[in-house]
Amino acid sequence: MNARVEKLRALLEEPLLVTNLVNVRYLTGFVSSNAALLVEPERVRLFTDFRYAAAARAVEGVELVETRRAVVGDLAERLSGRIGFEADDVSYAGYETLRRGGLELVPRSGLVERLRAVKDEEELAVLRDAAAITERAFARLAGERFTGRSERDLAWRMEQLLREEGAEETAFDIAIGSGPTGGAPHSRPSERLVERGETVVVDAGAVVAGYNSDCTRTFATGALRDELERAYAVCLEAQQAAVDAVSAGISGRDLDAVARERIDASEFAGRFGHGLGHGVGLLVHEGPVARPESEDVLEPANVLTIEPGIYFEGEGGIRIEDIVIVREGGAEVLSGFTKELVTVQ
Ligand code: ZN
Ligand code: ZN
Repeated sequence: MNARVEKLRALLEEPLLVTNLVNVRYLTGFVSSNAALLVEPERVRLFTDFRYAAAARAVEGVELVETRRAVVGDLAERLSGRIGFEADDVSYAGYETLRRGGLELVPRSGLVERLRAVKDEEELAVLRDAAAITERAFARLAGERFTGRSERDLAWRMEQLLREEGAEETAFDIAIGSGPTGGAPHSRPSERLVERGETVVVDAGAVVAGYNSDCTRTFATGALRDELERAYAVCLEAQQAAVDAVSAGISGRDLDAVARERIDASEFAGRFGHGLGHGVGLLVHEGPVARPESEDVLEPANVLTIEPGIYFEGEGGIRIEDIVIVREGGAEVLSGFTKELVTVQ
């Protein structure tokens, strides 16, 4: 019996058509670019086209239905009655196709995502692995020369290190923000050469068995000017306070406030312009979220990032990001690389 499908069934008021491919993967282990799953009380049907049929036949507990390439059009002809659909995933055109097929469609939101937010032991083990790979890659990168190298070169080197340490791929395009590039939270690596006496923000993650890690450290290339040194200390204090505040029952909003109040009480008020953190799993960004408008309340076995930052537009930036597992009375921190300011060559 598939425990994830059973948990989903307990939430359903009508059969659910799962079209979000990440959710299909979560529920069945089946990876494809074209599939849908219909979860009914007594059966689960997996729809996919010829290219994936052989792999789909190996999935336990589902009936395979081979469809045309256009799965939604095929489903419109094949299915009938009242079914729920994933309103955040089906396009307007897809909805119209299903409706014209005579289906009675009930929009549903976040059902599988709610399950995905609470990881099982198998998922936690893989996430620990991905975080450990990332930690080793950071340790090796910290031993290399930064100054005189381009951001793009450093990003490529980090990608190599992640893969050498066991990553199947990188979780996202590695971000390297040196000096002024790091003054914006989402910095794309450029041809800029890293100079002495600046901050270099490195944000990277590994993929293991489809699960992502996500870690940021900020390095210094030699002595920093005082303001950046102080900002690093404030960011680290805020980050650690938020990590220490993690436990089941705290809201995403209150957790965000723990870090935000510290930064806003300092001379760097207003320079932390993004949310504190996000859930991580099969996607790099999923639930639960910790930010001022979050309505999420943390539960045991949620996995999320804690990543405050302080940014000086056009000058430099600091961000420190860990991944943690939420526990009853605290957090298990997966990101092991030191958070003290590391000075690199
Ligand atoms: Zn990150
Ligand atoms: Zn992140």
